[in-house]
Amino acid sequence: MEILDGKNLSAKIKDEVLAGASSYKKTPVLAVITIGNDEASKIYVNNKRKACEYVGMSFLHICYDEKDNEEKIIKKIKSLNKDEYVNGIILQLPIPDKFDSEKLLNTISPDKDVDGLTFISQGKLVDGKPNFIPCTPKGILELLDFYKIDLEGKNVCVVGRSILVGKPIMLECINRNATCTMCHSKTKNLSDYTKKADILIVCVGKKHLIDKTMIKKDAVIIDVGINREDGQIYGDVNPDVKDKCSYLTPVPGGVGPMTVCMLLKNTLIAYKRQNGIEDE
Ligand code: NAP
Repeated sequence: MEILDGKNLSAKIKDEVLAGASSYKKTPVLAVITIGNDEASKIYVNNKRKACEYVGMSFLHICYDEKDNEEKIIKKIKSLNKDEYVNGIILQLPIPDKFDSEKLLNTISPDKDVDGLTFISQGKLVDGKPNFIPCTPKGILELLDFYKIDLEGKNVCVVGRSILVGKPIMLECINRNATCTMCHSKTKNLSDYTKKADILIVCVGKKHLIDKTMIKKDAVIIDVGINREDGQIYGDVNPDVKDKCSYLTPVPGGVGPMTVCMLLKNTLIAYKRQNGIEDE
């Protein structure tokens, strides 16, 4: 079994982004909007800040309180859309229930939607012509590409159907000519599907949901889950699969670091498009 090492690959990609970002006259700017006090979000936002600082991008953190009103936030997003110095805008999820996340997300200009979550970005992905691929699915694809794991003709099973991870990764696998099955909490006899997968992508949020009895021999296993328990982080996949699979993403150190790194990559893409810089 070979480890799909997201920690090493993300460090390499960050250095490439650093080289790109530092070669331009203006500094790329990522604006991150947070609302409320979600504890996990604080960790994720801090990781994003550190990553931006590492590659020489400016990180603009705009914090709102749960008591703030939606109109004020919408006004701010519209002004960020127009601000020529701001290249990417993200709304850190989850946000408190009183806010309409769909409305707020869709106020972000598709040109600056580096999380790829607006309806326009989602529609383009469905159409096979992605605007910005959401960061976690994009990170998974980069890992597969780096390890030369081709998707064409493969049976891919995705467990979990969120807008953030499950649905977009399934669409991109279809766009790359895989045959896909999507499972979720109402799927009966989950292992009937997971056992047939050449590539199994698990994005559920349940510690060790998948074990070695549920996978095909020599399958590629992508574990997206992050489950915190007693100060430790566990994936959705039981480590016992390592005797049976061909590749595995560790948790931590697999998909997680790739996600932050893809946010940097998407921000650089936005910057280049907005400044008329051709891809090398
Ligand atoms: P989510 O929105 O809560 O979606 C979870 C999905 O899992 C839902 O589609 C749900 O089905 C399905 N599910 C729940 N129980 C199931 C079961 N017993 N069998 C099969 N499917 C089941 O979560 P998410 O945002 O996609 O995140 C999933 C996990 O990935 C979390 O642990 C999260 O922390 C992690 N994550 C990691 C990264 C990273 O960078 N590594 C990034 C994002 C998320 P229904 O649709 O039927 O409810």
